[in-house]
Amino acid sequence: MERAILHTLRERLTTLCDQLKALSEDGEVASVRGESGEVLYRACELDSCHHLVCGSCGRAVGVDLPDIEDCARSLARSHGFSDVCQVVEISGSCAS
Ligand SMILES: [Zn+2]
Repeated sequence: MERAILHTLRERLTTLCDQLKALSEDGEVASVRGESGEVLYRACELDSCHHLVCGSCGRAVGVDLPDIEDCARSLARSHGFSDVCQVVEISGSCAS
């Protein structure tokens, strides 16, 4: 019985992960790499790589940070890095 439940849970988890990946590829949710390497998904109001994230309710708002992107590219180039991608997540508490 427990084995059947675990099998069902694993199948549902795999389906959920596949759906989150698809939503992320479509830009419906944002994916961010967590501190321990896990992939975190957040619903996003704007199509952006950078987010303001509320630590209380989890709300995420996409923001444009062109100056930071230019700075990151320049810094990466000066260290010989190419194919640079940067993600900025700013946490705080929203007004809600
Ligand atoms: Zn909030």
